[in-house]
Amino acid sequence: MNNKHALVIFPHPDDESFGASGIISKFRSEGVPVTYLCGTLGEMGRNMGNPVFANRETLSTFRKRELEEAARQLDINVELLGYRDKTLEFEPIESLAADLKKRIQSHRASVVITHYPGYAVHPDHDALAAAVIKAVEQIDPGERPEVWMHAISNGHEEKLGEPDLIFDIAPYWDKKEAAIRAHLSQADGMMQLIENHDQRNEQLQRLKRESFYRWTLSTT
Ligand SMILES: [Zn+2]
Repeated sequence: MNNKHALVIFPHPDDESFGASGIISKFRSEGVPVTYLCGTLGEMGRNMGNPVFANRETLSTFRKRELEEAARQLDINVELLGYRDKTLEFEPIESLAADLKKRIQSHRASVVITHYPGYAVHPDHDALAAAVIKAVEQIDPGERPEVWMHAISNGHEEKLGEPDLIFDIAPYWDKKEAAIRAHLSQADGMMQLIENHDQRNEQLQRLKRESFYRWTLSTT
């Protein structure tokens, strides 16, 4: 596939590193530019680092810096959408979609990576992903990027079947680890897992494979 520009659209700083930094690194190694449209600064998150180094007032500043570091590790651009954490589900989907459509078109995206609405565990994930799909639906078929959707919820394969795209991201593991590590306030538990090298750990194994469902326009 001939990709010109990949857009990654998730609501929180760290979604890109946990969910897509392997495929992001693969794109970068092929010379494909990648831009992360990050919906919020995750300022309502509960994790404040271990030992604790942030509070509710300072968390957004830290998370912005962490995201900048992750972006440096992954060699990608970041565009902050400026929405408020934990409120995306209350934004009118039409206005979110209009905002996203403009950005998708101005970047001339050939592929957009987002969550799978309804299978993404967090209301912000589901809401932003639903708006991405709505945005792409409104683009002329000839200019539409592909949409790759990342499902997270337990047991999603039983409902959705095998993902359409499965990437073994072992060749990019160092990049993924560095990107996750950059999210100091969020990544503590995961870094311990990674450092323990527990090969049987399911969570860790899941990180080493990135899989996506391809969205197809419904005709109904
Ligand atoms: Zn998230």
